[in-house]
Amino acid sequence: MEQTLAGKTALVTAAANGIGRASAEALAARGAQVIATDIDGAGVAALAEATPNMTGQRLDVMDGDAVNALVASVAPVHILLNCAGWVHDGTILDCDETVWDRAFDLNAKSIFRITNAVLPGMLEAGGGSIINIASIVSSEKGAPRRFAYGASKAAIIGMTKSIAADFVKQGIRCNAICPGTVQSPSLNDRLEATGDFDKALAAFKERQPMGRLGQPEEIAEIVCYLAGDMSAFTTGQAFAIDGGWSI
Ligand code: NAD
Repeated sequence: MEQTLAGKTALVTAAANGIGRASAEALAARGAQVIATDIDGAGVAALAEATPNMTGQRLDVMDGDAVNALVASVAPVHILLNCAGWVHDGTILDCDETVWDRAFDLNAKSIFRITNAVLPGMLEAGGGSIINIASIVSSEKGAPRRFAYGASKAAIIGMTKSIAADFVKQGIRCNAICPGTVQSPSLNDRLEATGDFDKALAAFKERQPMGRLGQPEEIAEIVCYLAGDMSAFTTGQAFAIDGGWSI
């Protein structure tokens, strides 16, 4: 049974590509009015142009003033999908303070920043669903060369549980999604950067027992479930969707 999200406004970050794009499209297809944002303003403008129930706006999630201005300019948000993220490839010995700060700013602090701006309106509107894209590489699982990434994604799960605990009695739900490796433009860049695309792709597939990459649309389905009332009894959870990697 497919639920309707009609009457709900959804704000999505990093909506020009990958999981954010597929999720924005799926939320709009189910009737939500979607505000698709991305640092690539042209990308979300083109997506919105082609998609009913959607507007596109440039937003750099690391720019606090821009976040506050955008949130102040839109209708109360019922669904917030925090999707922006960045992978640093390296161990602790490859990580300096600049890398650490970028990973935490883009992956974790941006969620604090946006949720802090959106939550008062959500509370006034009587409730809402906040969905944070973490990763299975986080507090859930270690992976080679994902030091700053895994640490910052673990912070997202901590934030998710904290927000869920604080606002559970006020109609706010907050959940995290922990994808395994999913086909996306930035994944292709990471595979290219290894110097041997095919070998790296085979290794990424191999570590997921289902023997394949996930598709952004598969993550978008759980986004829609968590966004809507069919998940009304669910909060503070981290949902693995990872082809069996974490079994
Ligand atoms: P992607 O990395 O291919 O695309 C990311 C989008 O984020 C791009 O459109 C880019 O323009 C935008 N972006 C980058 N910096 C931004 C900023 N400062 N402000 C706003 N937007 C910005 O997409 P993806 O691989 O689907 O990743 C989306 C999320 O899913 C990320 O948080 C990522 O960590 C997480 N994730 C991805 C995978 C995977 O294998 N692809 C696995 C686990 C988790």
